[in-house]
Amino acid sequence: MPDDRTKRGQPRGEDELVFVALGGLGEIGMNAYLYGYGPSDARQWLLVDLGITFPEGEDDPGVDVIFPDLRFLEEEKSTLAGIVITHAHEDHIGAVIELWHRLGVPVFATPFTAGMLKAKLAEYGSRLPIPIREIPLNGRFEAGPFNVELIEMSHSIPESSALVIRTAAGTLLHTGDWKLDRTPLIGGAPDEARLNALGDEGVLAVIGDSTNAMREGTSPSEKDVARSLAEIVKDAPQRVIVTTFASNVARIKAVADATRAAGRELVVAGRALHRVIDVAIDTGYLPQGFRYVDQQQFDELKRSKVVCLCTGSQGEPRAAMARIAENEHPDVSLAKGDMAIFSSRTIPGNEKAVGWIQNSLVRMGVEVITDGEALVHVTGHPRRDELRQLYAWTRPRIAIPMHGEARHLKAHAELARECGVAEVQVAYNGEMVRLAPGTVRIVDDAPVGRLFRDGRLIVPSGEGPVRERRKLAFAGIVVVALALSRRGDLMGDPQVTMEGVPAEDDAGEPMEEIVLSAVEGTLRSIPRDRRRDLEMVAEAVRRAVRGGIASAWGKKPIVKVLTSVIEGKG
Ligand SMILES: [Zn+2]
Ligand SMILES: [Zn+2]
Repeated sequence: MPDDRTKRGQPRGEDELVFVALGGLGEIGMNAYLYGYGPSDARQWLLVDLGITFPEGEDDPGVDVIFPDLRFLEEEKSTLAGIVITHAHEDHIGAVIELWHRLGVPVFATPFTAGMLKAKLAEYGSRLPIPIREIPLNGRFEAGPFNVELIEMSHSIPESSALVIRTAAGTLLHTGDWKLDRTPLIGGAPDEARLNALGDEGVLAVIGDSTNAMREGTSPSEKDVARSLAEIVKDAPQRVIVTTFASNVARIKAVADATRAAGRELVVAGRALHRVIDVAIDTGYLPQGFRYVDQQQFDELKRSKVVCLCTGSQGEPRAAMARIAENEHPDVSLAKGDMAIFSSRTIPGNEKAVGWIQNSLVRMGVEVITDGEALVHVTGHPRRDELRQLYAWTRPRIAIPMHGEARHLKAHAELARECGVAEVQVAYNGEMVRLAPGTVRIVDDAPVGRLFRDGRLIVPSGEGPVRERRKLAFAGIVVVALALSRRGDLMGDPQVTMEGVPAEDDAGEPMEEIVLSAVEGTLRSIPRDRRRDLEMVAEAVRRAVRGGIASAWGKKPIVKVLTSVIEGKG
């Protein structure tokens, strides 16, 4: 009786507007934010960004890149309207190529961002049929129930765009990564009138960048950095080498301008820089005639007539900067009296690698300049006064801090309240926040997690092979192989192989002997007729070997026991 049921209750749920992060809330990196609209059992989704993060320290041996787990979306694939990329930083775009086939939907991006994606795709040698829908800067498009308008913001890469997402339940402003730089050197300054008009129109919620929510004031402009770099290069006596984030086109331009003003030649070293320069020329951010000298000519130029711009500001071992510091670069070398400028910030986790490079440069007699010594870098994220300004323009009812660790989200939440925002909700990855109707609150959970890039494969983080390697790295492995006869007698000597285990204990007893006596003692203790249960034998031997090594060494290695039955007497 369907009619009855409709009348009595369980009406089709009312349309809701929800927000949930698969990455990016509670961390800086791996951004993947979802907006959903519709009744709770039939929502349609829009994914904003699909980025990567990097492992910190050496907890995950053999893993260089971490992706968000998209399980939640893979189950809802048919309801996903598309992926919008706010800008081409790896923490926002880095997972698109490797995870796109799991979703199979169009990717919306502005020309520079799309150009970066295409350039990566070409380098990747991939023929993935990713439908890239290029949206003009400050353009507008429809995706499912979402009407999306882009607003160009300043950041540390061209075309970082805030998204105005209009739905029947209200208008959202997803800021993306931004700062309020009125002289950004490249691209336009944030359109204050546009943001203010949006406030007049009525903003339901701002979902905003929290990276610098703990820092007071306003961050300096890219133009201030350009001026400072120009002065440093002008006064440098010998060779100058500058390393920066390859994607920072404004910084590339600043270094090129400083070089020309000092009457020097620019050399560019590092594939990532060449890729960005090509895309920036194609999209008009660097002039068609942007000129630099090939790195092979570096040595031929007079020491006072050259500036080399290179990759590797984060200490990446294969990038140009690390090879120059090791004196292993084929074309570029430094000597006493030269200067190295780190026009960058060291991302947490890379301090050791960067420190190592800076120390070896100092040992060579090279003067190292970082953002601690001079204004050679600025952040691309809003400090507290810039956040206050954004709230004053947009006047939202709700604020949700994003793009930050717990402490950044909390600081941003407090500031939003101070700015008069009525409803402020801190949420973490997987917590589904209902923005409308009613007051903001967490209503559900979505499955979230991390995937590791492990060689050519993508593997789960929790129960995957990396967890085993962590154990192996800590205490090594012992493999024991033994053969029993049908009657349960040991046939020959057990074979023992050990990796990562000390050869002997502190009394000089070989570890192999300790293993063998544990094996033999265990077998003796099991009655012969029960030894036919090979599984039981293997487990008993495993425990005994592990215990024997633990009392000799104080650590428990992974122990594997292989058993087999051999036909014959015995
Ligand atoms: Zn970011
Ligand atoms: Zn960014």
